[in-house]
Amino acid sequence: MDLYSGYINKLIDELAALPGIGSKSAQRLAFHLINLPEAKVQRLANAMVQARQKVRYCRECFTLTDNEICPICQNDRRDHTTIMVVENSRDLAAYEKTGKYQGVYHVLHGAISPMLGIGPHDIKLKELMERLSGGPEIREVIIATNSSLEGETTAMYISKLIKPLGIRVTRIASGVPVGGDLEYIDEVTLLRALEGRVEL
Ligand code: ZN
Repeated sequence: MDLYSGYINKLIDELAALPGIGSKSAQRLAFHLINLPEAKVQRLANAMVQARQKVRYCRECFTLTDNEICPICQNDRRDHTTIMVVENSRDLAAYEKTGKYQGVYHVLHGAISPMLGIGPHDIKLKELMERLSGGPEIREVIIATNSSLEGETTAMYISKLIKPLGIRVTRIASGVPVGGDLEYIDEVTLLRALEGRVEL
């Protein structure tokens, strides 16, 4: 027996399919939404559709951006000879919040995970290598993937690829909690990890 109307059930199903939203939260959100003024719901729906349509990868670093090239890559005052490799745009945002990192980034959009069947070709690794061999001179690549098994596997894989190019490769210091997503770590810890980075 359906307890709610078909429309509410459909909304609950869609919300429950989002990451981190259980069926209880989905129900709570669904009832919240149907009690909002219609204009507000329309604004939310528009924001979702527009973000999906307009947001794209930066041509240089592959972070999510509204433009062909993101504001960080466009900024001449950033140090374009230092590239920090992160797993996703949220990790980039976490480092930007520290306000201390002056280099640029490369966003992999994932990490190598043999268990999940995610290989080197499923992340933006080829793009990183193209960047290192093609563009302006790069002096250092800082690998800031998570300290999870996947993050460490990815770091080792990347360092093996880059070292033969004669570019300095460093890894952010451990001290970042194992398995911890970078975005949940406070700025002081992130800065310490960056400053204490070690040669690979
Ligand atoms: Zn960029």
